[in-house]
Order: sequence, then structure tokens, then C-alpha cells
Amino acid sequence: MLMHAKEFLWELLQTPSPSGFEAPGQRVWAQYTRTFADQVENDAYGNTWAIMKGMSSQPTVMLEAHADEIGFMIHHITSDGLLYVRRVGGTDHAIARGKRVVFAGDLGEVVGVVGNTAIHIRDREGEKVPKMHDLWVDIGADTKEEAEARGLRIGQVGVYVDGPLELTPNRIIGRALDNRIGGYIIAEAIRRLQMGQKPTATVYALNAVQEEIGGNGAKMAAYRLYPTVALVVDVCHATDTPGINSLEHGEVKLGAGPTLSHGGANHPLVVERLMEVAQSEEITVQHEAISRYTGTDTDDIFVAQSGIPSALISLPMRYMHSTIEMIDIRDVENIIRLMVGFVQSVKSEDRFVIKI
Ligand SMILES: [Zn+2]
Repeated sequence: MLMHAKEFLWELLQTPSPSGFEAPGQRVWAQYTRTFADQVENDAYGNTWAIMKGMSSQPTVMLEAHADEIGFMIHHITSDGLLYVRRVGGTDHAIARGKRVVFAGDLGEVVGVVGNTAIHIRDREGEKVPKMHDLWVDIGADTKEEAEARGLRIGQVGVYVDGPLELTPNRIIGRALDNRIGGYIIAEAIRRLQMGQKPTATVYALNAVQEEIGGNGAKMAAYRLYPTVALVVDVCHATDTPGINSLEHGEVKLGAGPTLSHGGANHPLVVERLMEVAQSEEITVQHEAISRYTGTDTDDIFVAQSGIPSALISLPMRYMHSTIEMIDIRDVENIIRLMVGFVQSVKSEDRFVIKI
């Protein structure tokens, strides 16, 4: 990984951007992509896209990722100064106890810990995953007034503190790799396209908001940009750790290449083109069967306006929605190459319309 690209990814990963409050991360992304994109724009809700003009204005290719991450929102402060929180998106509260959480308060960041009653004195019989109202965040305040004086109030959001770590040159762990890594991939794809021979198609790299709470940003921006074709990058479950039944969840290995999905939102001609590009670029891909929903922004993009031929490219990930999400940088590199190769393959007459 190039040094400047890694610095960008690290900064992105360390900037809290829970769903609905993505502006800090989007500013980092926009600042970086402005250094090579022809134009960077955003809409009212913070969807941000970088434009790379091709030889012609049509067709257009959208490379999409989501910018938001899961987190917590303060919904009650007790008279003792403890915070009770709701989940923003699918935060894994089974791992919450004993973790640090950082909130964006009015006076700056406030760090707290999710209380964990000592093993010696808690009732451990039949211990189960706690309910959200069993959990509290302790910021070290004694009273509600003290918490408020530190700039906290109901409606503010926080995330687990855990930042990124390189376990090996190929394996990275951290919070919010779902899907900052996607924002990194689409930025890197247009950076490389910009360095090479100008493609025919004009490219939008869209970093969309609010995926984790319902694909809302993708709905708005896909309608607005209405590209000829869209490639979405998000993470999928690697099923190669103990306890995951491949008979139930399929077989996806970390480091064995991006996955292509079939069915649902995935347009057969777009998937076919991706498989051709993968073959000519010698990229190994894995496959996933989608019976109905992909559970990603692809579901919202392909039905925008009168339909956008779309396909999902997924990055295998272990331990999704935890603080130790793990990815393999070789898979990341292969998705960038697949996206770049796809854009370069698009000819002026390509519309991905099924012949009837
Ligand atoms: Zn995601």
C-alpha cells in the first residue's frame, strides 16, 4: 500500500462517522479526492461524490461505497451521570461491556466506558447477551449536570474507540472497516484511472451516507446521478473461522479474492462483464448466491429512476460489525483492479440492456 494512500485510509478509519452524522469522515474523503478528481460535490445530506471526466459524457459509471459506520446514540442521562444509549445501525452490543466509546459532544470528544460489573460479584448463572438497557456508558461524571457541563446531551452519537492495526502486511483489523475500506477503494480506483489512459466513460465515485440505517444516501444520490451502470463495493462475511456452517452460509475465504454476487440486484450483463475483466486481469473471484436482497446499497441503487444496471463486489471480512473487523489487503487491491478494469472496458455504446 502506498504511503499517502495508507495515511488517507488510517485517517478515514480514525474519524468517527456514524450514520446520519458522517460529515467529519466525508470531509476527509473529499479533501483527499479533490487532489486528483476533476470535481468533488455533495448534496444536502452529505452524500459526496468525486467526478472523473472520461472521453465523453456518456456512458457514466458509478463506483459506490457507503461512508457511514455503526455506533451509539445517547437517549437518556441518569441523575448519576450515566449515559444510556441506543444502537445506530447493527452495532454488536454482545461485545460492548468493557469497551471504550467516544462521543462527539458540543465541547469536543468525550470518552466513556461501557460498564462491566466485576466477574467476582455479578450473577453469572445463565449469562446471556445483554439488552441495550442493561448497558450504560460511564464517562466518570457523578451527576447529570456534570455530564451536561461536559457538552453531552440526548441525541449525540458515539462509536467504539478502537482504531486500525496492521496485524501483518496483508491483514488489517479495526472498527469501521465496514465500509471505510469501500470509500478508500473507490477513491483509489479513480486516482489510478486518472493516472492512466483516459477512459471513454465518465466516472462518479460516490461515498453515500446512511447505509447502515437503510440505504438512504444511496437512494438519494443514485436518483440524482442516474448513471448508466453502477458497481457497489461493500463487505461480506468470510466464513472461514470456526463455528460458521458453510452449508448454511456458503464458503467465502479471507484473502481468496473479492466475491461477485448473482441474483437480486445484480444485473447479469454487468456481472458477466466483471467476470470477463477478472479473467483478463487474472483476478481470482469467489461467488455468492443472492436469493432476494444483497443487504447493501445495491438494493437501492438498481431500482432508482427507471433502473440502473448494477453489481455488487464484496470484500471478504471476518468479525463484521465488531471492533476487530478483519480484512486482507490483497482482496482490497483486487477490487480496485477489478473496478479500474471494468471502467476501462466500457465502450461508448455500452448500455447493459438485456436483449429481448
Ligand atoms: Zn457495509
